[in-house]
Amino acid sequence: MVHGHRGVKFENWARTYSCCPEMYYQPTSVEEIREVLALARQQKKRVKVVGGGHSPSDIACTDGFMIHMGKMNRLLQVDKEKKQVTVEAGILLADLHPQLDKHGLALSKLGAVSDVTAGGVIGSGTHNTGIDHGILATQVVALTLLTASGTVLECSESSNADVFQAARVHLGCLGVVLTVTLQCVPQFHLQETSFPSTLKEVLDNLDSHLKRSEYFRFLWFPHSENVSVIYQDHTTKPRSSSANWFWDYAIGFYLLEFLLWISTFLPCLVGWINRFFFWLLFNCKREHVDLSHKVFSYECRFKQHVQDWAIPREKTKEALLELKTMLEAHPKVVAHFPVEVRFTRGDDILLSPCFQRDSCYVNIIMYRPYGKDVPRLDYWVAYETIMKKVGGRPHWAKAHNCTRSDFENMYPAFPKFCAIREKLDPTGMFLNAYLEKVFY
Ligand SMILES: Cc1cc2nc3c(=O)[nH]c(=O)nc-3n(C[C@H](O)[C@H](O)[C@H](O)COP(=O)(O)OP(=O)(O)OC[C@H]3O[C@@H](n4cnc5c(N)ncnc54)[C@H](O)[C@@H]3O)c2cc1C
Repeated sequence: MVHGHRGVKFENWARTYSCCPEMYYQPTSVEEIREVLALARQQKKRVKVVGGGHSPSDIACTDGFMIHMGKMNRLLQVDKEKKQVTVEAGILLADLHPQLDKHGLALSKLGAVSDVTAGGVIGSGTHNTGIDHGILATQVVALTLLTASGTVLECSESSNADVFQAARVHLGCLGVVLTVTLQCVPQFHLQETSFPSTLKEVLDNLDSHLKRSEYFRFLWFPHSENVSVIYQDHTTKPRSSSANWFWDYAIGFYLLEFLLWISTFLPCLVGWINRFFFWLLFNCKREHVDLSHKVFSYECRFKQHVQDWAIPREKTKEALLELKTMLEAHPKVVAHFPVEVRFTRGDDILLSPCFQRDSCYVNIIMYRPYGKDVPRLDYWVAYETIMKKVGGRPHWAKAHNCTRSDFENMYPAFPKFCAIREKLDPTGMFLNAYLEKVFY
């Protein structure tokens, strides 16, 4: 018999959203999850599954039953020949990496943090960068889904293929993802090289940067021309590090947080902070080599608000120049650094922001120094307007103001996804306030 807890407060990583679920469960088996779903059906309650709780939006919140997957976190199977692993969906990628290391395997792409679960990253369409690489969910070759009725569906290209095409970016609304089978690659070292450039240079030579590095991305420092270009590429070189506590923490975190806090009283300082920190920390070439997962994922130190839209790749220059022009024309609108620009290959997952098109993600950020919210509405609205104009689609886990009519325009396969969702969950057991805005 599964035991639930009352009075548990759930808060996401950035502390931007919290909720008090009526009951909070940490099941250890499929049977226990089935019991929770049966109870929810009987009492007409809604259910929300939560993984690492890292989504910056309220996508994982509920006032109904919450199922935390943290105890369903085992590596179940390793197929050495196919280089595929099957994991329980609640496994944190940070816990998966050392187990893959032991088998000489690795994931070919990861997001910026690994304290996220296999079920969670595919739920929101998590991505990184590399024009020959899709979003993380494109590594999924099979998954199992426990639906609202208590049925387990095995999904892959050859079994329940339509559900599979939907469930690789599932938004948490199709059922409970129980297991995920991931295509891995042989373990590899990555060399990261970062060097300074300008927005003009990078935008004028985008194709050549994209060709030159497998995992190319860049950071633009708003209110300036400054850019830090980051190349990440396979290497056979041994591990080497340029990490330095003084520069990385004392300057890059403690001093920056203090200055950002000061700038909440004097917003005109933000442009200066962006230029000063570029000069201090990003104005020279840096290199380091490590196991791939230690280079892909890094320590995110700041609580923050973020938006991250995927736009057609060919619109990159137009969108960024328009954002720059907007900031120049409105000196009162302040933007923290960086604007992170990443690239991802198109796919065929129904609600993937990269559905049927190679994309550029433009991630904007406003930090919360010492937990203090900085006004961001004007920046947010101007950014969203530009992203919509160039045909963008918002990241499912991050802030946006879109509703069903927007998604109907953005996603050719939106009706197909809705039909699958309504079939699998006719009573809307897995909906919450966020998903109601998406589907109603
Ligand atoms: C510091 C930081 C850095 C980040 N970096 C990146 C990045 O580089 N790229 C990027 O794209 N995103 C990034 N994100 C966003 C993050 O990757 C996503 O929010 C991701 O979904 C978080 O995974 P999670 O396990 O915490 O999922 P949660 O936030 O717990 O859940 C996400 C969604 O999945 C559902 N869900 C989770 N597990 C299951 C399950 N087993 N069955 C059914 N539904 C489930 C939830 O209901 C919810 O709808 C970052 C976030 C933070 C805070």
